[in-house]
Amino acid sequence: MDYALHYKELRESVARNAVDGAGHEVGATEGRRGTHHRNEDALTERQDVVVIGAGLSGLRMARLLAESGLAVLLLDRKMDLGQGVHTTGIFVRRTLGSFHLPPECLGPAVRHVTLYSPARRPLRLISPRDEFRIGRMAPLYEHELGRARTAGAEWAPRHRLEGLEFLRSSTLVKLTDPEGAHRVVRTRFVVGADGTFSTAARHLDLDRNRDWIVGVEEVFRGVDVQGPPRLHVMLDPQLAPGYIAWAAHDGHELHVGTGGHPSRFEPDRALRGVRELAGELLAREGLISSRNELDRAHPSERRAGAIPVGGILTRLSSPRGLLVGDAAGAPSPLTAGGLDPCLRLTALAAQLIVDHLTPGRASSLCAYHGRNFRPRFVSRLAMRRLYDRLDDPRLIEVMCLGLRMLPLRFAARQLFFGDGSFPEPPAELRDAVAATASRPVGATIRT
Ligand SMILES: Cc1cc2nc3c(=O)[nH]c(=O)nc-3n(C[C@H](O)[C@H](O)[C@H](O)COP(=O)(O)OP(=O)(O)OC[C@H]3O[C@@H](n4cnc5c(N)ncnc54)[C@H](O)[C@@H]3O)c2cc1C
Repeated sequence: MDYALHYKELRESVARNAVDGAGHEVGATEGRRGTHHRNEDALTERQDVVVIGAGLSGLRMARLLAESGLAVLLLDRKMDLGQGVHTTGIFVRRTLGSFHLPPECLGPAVRHVTLYSPARRPLRLISPRDEFRIGRMAPLYEHELGRARTAGAEWAPRHRLEGLEFLRSSTLVKLTDPEGAHRVVRTRFVVGADGTFSTAARHLDLDRNRDWIVGVEEVFRGVDVQGPPRLHVMLDPQLAPGYIAWAAHDGHELHVGTGGHPSRFEPDRALRGVRELAGELLAREGLISSRNELDRAHPSERRAGAIPVGGILTRLSSPRGLLVGDAAGAPSPLTAGGLDPCLRLTALAAQLIVDHLTPGRASSLCAYHGRNFRPRFVSRLAMRRLYDRLDDPRLIEVMCLGLRMLPLRFAARQLFFGDGSFPEPPAELRDAVAATASRPVGATIRT
């Protein structure tokens, strides 16, 4: 299909029907699904919100918006969300305390962490509390998708965002469907939840990630690892330049992986080195029978992806759409943990979108701006820059020696067991969200 012709027809049709592009007629009705005006205009499919990307951010966003009565289309270029999972899926205590995740989609709790210096000296840390759980990501995505659909969101797998076209007060979302045919949806709002290299950000003319690390890991099921669930963290500037290598086991799954700056290492080769190293360290600790056990094992899955570490982006929203999760640069620049940020930012953004699209409510969308979050990223960004420069194993060794001393040992515990996660939105923004329902239409908050 010729896009130009397609849009010409669509625009003419819109003009003919003199429809108000704001589309209030669709979204104002409680729990109503998007409409397909096949008879009057074969080209006008309408939704209140189109959510691009069905990772954890997009899935959660689609559900929250659909539960608020908006007509939502959730789409992803993938057919099956369980395919091509790219995260280890470690959820930290603070996330588990704030968000309900189904227990059957989470592994046993992890309280033990061992940190290895470049010279492989272990520092063992134990928390009195359950600190982490490794998510079973494929069932978790399916579960979240089920909830979004039950809430009324329409699901479009194998749909890829190709572009956006802005009409007077609505947006045409250009998609390709599984047969490669073009599909166009008219919407009031677009959510970019499409990850680090967000196409939505580009088309919405919002900021894009410029700084990221790559992570790659193998998942083993059936390797007999003794002892309590444990996260092994290896510091090694060759195998993980600017980041860490890890072996995380919870009694059921063993994840062995590494991450680092793409310009400074070759991930696949580094992963082979990490697998060897993990085998050696786990055997030395008596957790597996021999160092060759990992070499002989066949990974059930391989996961890889890019994680933004430049801190939250500045231009996150416009009246046409906004960004969440990795697309918004939400992961912690220091730890590269992105699951907590995607849940927290999505919850906030969903509230702002509902207010923005509900007649009679004032919009605080302009407050959804990086300047309201970036101050809380300053120390993490500074630590990231410092760690990026530490490419000498001897310096990291000295740092690790320091971590064994009492005052710094506290810092190590804070890093692994602290309450740090995505910062709460500033009070000003929280208050604005809380107040929107009672504020007169047209009022704006100062940002
Ligand atoms: C190897 C690795 C390990 C990690 N481990 C952890 C961890 O243990 N704990 C933690 O907190 N964080 C971890 N992270 C980070 C965390 O996984 C991410 O921050 C989080 O998954 C981001 O979720 P998201 O929904 O924002 O984006 P994504 O999960 O990237 O979802 C984006 C979705 O958009 C779809 N998409 C992209 N482009 C298009 C398009 N044009 N059209 C249609 N669909 C599109 C993709 O198919 C994808 O499904 C890890 C990351 C990596 C790479």
